[in-house]
Amino acid sequence: NYPIYGRIDGPIVMIGFGSIGKGTWPLIERHFEYDADQFLVIEPDTAQHNFLRQHKLNFIDTALTPENYREVLSGLFPEGKGFCVNLSVDTSSLDLMKLCREMGVLYIDTVVEPWAGFYFDTEDNAARTNYALRQKVRDEKAANPGGTTAVSCCGANPGMVSWFVKEALLTLARDTGRDATAPADRAGWAKLMQSLGVKGVHIAERDTQARRTPRPRGTFVNTWSVEGFISEGFQPAELGWGTHETWFPENAHRQDEGCKSAIWLERPGAITRVHSWCPTPGPQFGFLVTHNEAVSISDYYTVGEGHDPEYRPTCHYAYHPSDDAVLSLHEMFGSGKQQQKHHILTEDEIVEGIDELGVLLFGHEKNALWFGSRLSNEETRDLAPYQNATGLQVTSAVLAGMVWALENPQAGIVETDEMDHARCLEVQRPYLGPVEAHYTDWTPLQDRWEHFPEDIDESDPWLFRNVLAT
Ligand code: NAD
Repeated sequence: NYPIYGRIDGPIVMIGFGSIGKGTWPLIERHFEYDADQFLVIEPDTAQHNFLRQHKLNFIDTALTPENYREVLSGLFPEGKGFCVNLSVDTSSLDLMKLCREMGVLYIDTVVEPWAGFYFDTEDNAARTNYALRQKVRDEKAANPGGTTAVSCCGANPGMVSWFVKEALLTLARDTGRDATAPADRAGWAKLMQSLGVKGVHIAERDTQARRTPRPRGTFVNTWSVEGFISEGFQPAELGWGTHETWFPENAHRQDEGCKSAIWLERPGAITRVHSWCPTPGPQFGFLVTHNEAVSISDYYTVGEGHDPEYRPTCHYAYHPSDDAVLSLHEMFGSGKQQQKHHILTEDEIVEGIDELGVLLFGHEKNALWFGSRLSNEETRDLAPYQNATGLQVTSAVLAGMVWALENPQAGIVETDEMDHARCLEVQRPYLGPVEAHYTDWTPLQDRWEHFPEDIDESDPWLFRNVLAT
């Protein structure tokens, strides 16, 4: 009795069949009509081929490159219709979305990914930021507005969390006795956030999924792409820079081009810790790993423009990955070497835990509100096959984004902040487990180690100076 959201005419080409591709396929099968022989996967890793064969899925064993992607993809979409679902690493989201739009093919991805080599071979740290990657997509949108829909960055985060920010704002408006009607446009949403006194947003996540056996030393264990996490973890820490901030980190840089909503730090995100809060642990350290949504949310909710707008929220990721992933990072950064063995925890080996992923809106009259999904691996197993809780939060966002794109096929290039959040969450919510709002009176000034003096500013608990752990 699953709802069918529409028919996809023409080929559906999925690029990459890793943890997210494998989990997205059953949701596509469940919720769309299409010709099964028109579904095709591009996957260069032979380790995935057995599964594809066993499930009678068409695939081609090719790695897309800057040299071959035009030829490969134009051959797969001869009639200029269909859907390209990009769930790979090492392929340029920008090049692929441009080609799809040229051909009239709908497109979706979960991250602005560059071609192989970008993350480690680029020497200039400013060029390695997500700000720089995103700005190129925004520039393409500005240069070529409208046209065939290409949904950029529609996973859990970036993605779903942008829809959560809107739900959380409406919740906060209602709970503080204000008008809780959804604004009709970006300016309205930004004004709403400003009028509620929100100083900033953490994308506050705690992943407690664990297996029975301890992590073997020398193996990077994660609950989603190890390659993806290592790449983003080595990018500079990055955050949307709010107008309430009174201090500027010594190792920080502003951006000169584009929307200017974010700054970056001269330090890898995966060893930059911040004080944050999630419902299960309460106060916790998270890693300030750079993410597209830190830039897009701070941009979307800006009132005014440039380096000195009237209002802008601070926004960044505060990620506590699974305990095995924390140890993996510790080992990798400590040794200066990437582990040769990678492992993504499967739904069958995980024996406990949830992925608690939400947005913490802070600095307003009710102090802080966490709004998010608290999905367990156990519940995930009942909801959909071939994925853990982390995966389902991502794949169900891909599903929602695909539904939205089918319903809005000529919307041009969009980010999730720009989509109808209510429609998207309507599609996604059955897969998110408990979706809850939690208020807390915790602030970053609480629960610190008082024996050592710190460089903090107690005049406003929610300054980034207090959030950043030294
Ligand atoms: P994964 O590492 O499990 O799988 C990636 C797949 O891409 C692999 O199977 C690999 O063989 C394939 N691939 C590598 N190079 C390729 C190329 N040149 N051409 C075609 N395919 C290629 O990763 P995953 O966990 O499935 O994640 C997939 C993507 O989704 C990553 O970019 C990741 O960063 C992103 N992601 C986003 C979110 C989010 O919430 N927005 C969450 C998780 C993952």
